Amino acid sequence: MSSTAFQALFGAAPQGTASAPGRVNLIGEFTDYNGGWVLPLALPFRCRVDWQRRDDGTVSVRSREYPESMDSFNSQDEYSPGEQGWANYVRAVVAALRESGRAPGGMNLLISSDVPQGRGLSSSAALEVALLGAFASAFNWPLDQAEIAALGQRAENQFIGCQCGIMDQLVSAAAQAGTALQIDCQSLATEDAAIPEGWAIVVLDSNHPRQLVDSEYNLRRQDCEAAANIMGLANLREATPEGVRAHQSALTRGQFSRALHVVEENHRVLASAQALRAGQLTELAALLAQGHQSLVELFEVTVPATDTLVAIAKNALGNRVAARQTGGGFGGAVVCICEQDDVELLLAAVQQHYHQQTGLEATSFVCTPGRGLECVIHE
Ligand code: ADP
Ligand code: MG
Repeated sequence: MSSTAFQALFGAAPQGTASAPGRVNLIGEFTDYNGGWVLPLALPFRCRVDWQRRDDGTVSVRSREYPESMDSFNSQDEYSPGEQGWANYVRAVVAALRESGRAPGGMNLLISSDVPQGRGLSSSAALEVALLGAFASAFNWPLDQAEIAALGQRAENQFIGCQCGIMDQLVSAAAQAGTALQIDCQSLATEDAAIPEGWAIVVLDSNHPRQLVDSEYNLRRQDCEAAANIMGLANLREATPEGVRAHQSALTRGQFSRALHVVEENHRVLASAQALRAGQLTELAALLAQGHQSLVELFEVTVPATDTLVAIAKNALGNRVAARQTGGGFGGAVVCICEQDDVELLLAAVQQHYHQQTGLEATSFVCTPGRGLECVIHE
């Protein structure tokens, strides 16, 4: 389908296709940029980039999701934002490649993605990683998963202006089917934590309109970095809850509560990965409940819509469901883990109560963990 569309747009078949998934984070929120741990998994939704090299240095790009617009720029030019917000991700990836000492040439690119956008499921990282896979294939760069992730993060940090950590890009590049990935965001070491047989991952999109997400996200990060600095640490990875409390008087209220969230969240990630491996749903439910409460009280990034979804899930299934807001905050999605046999009950409860309590409609996805970046050459 996409190959035909590519042919119609660019007059020739694509030479290759790269695709990368969106992700949902089970737990470990706002820990990645503090050198901590996270536990995401790849969604079955993917961003696909069909590509063909061009010899004139021009990058010409279209997206199936933005059919009315296109962008075209010279691969050698300095980064500058264009007229299409979405295409700035492509400009940013090309700029990040160039700044890393590589010389990306011209390309025809067609993007098509079923990762929901702006819902905390990381459609941006899926796009960056798929684009990087396309350029790596087209120009024969042997980039490993960690390098791809770092380049995607750099594109987003330096050019898009979102100070995200490495989690989204790394899981999108490196995920394996059937398993969550425990990532040590300091060393970038990864360890599988398979989803037990019979368990379901349910993502409930609140459809709450998100605002100020990037600016608030960046402010939270500044609080964390200031707290580490005041505590005399390189980052909060080394901090303990006792250490944070001991410095309370030297920290602002925001710095104190953000830091406390991060250090306690790190413990919850490691405990959750263990609970997952051991198939202990009740333990996992308790850990995710604490994680959500910490997002409410300490990191202050939830909204009534996501709090309501978590409450509906808990009212329906009690400690048979692990549920919390996932992603960058201020709306987006709630992730739930329960027995497959309980999914129907969970979805019925959301159907019955969510609209009534919030005036919004939730969109739900039952997901099996997908694969990371895949690159195929057609010639
Ligand atoms: P999230 O990563 O949580 O989905 P972001 O705001 O970080 O939200 O990224 C969403 C943005 O990424 C979109 O507004 C758009 O600019 C870009 N994007 C994502 N998917 C596509 C796509 N298929 N085509 C073009 N741009 C896309
Ligand atoms: Mg994003």
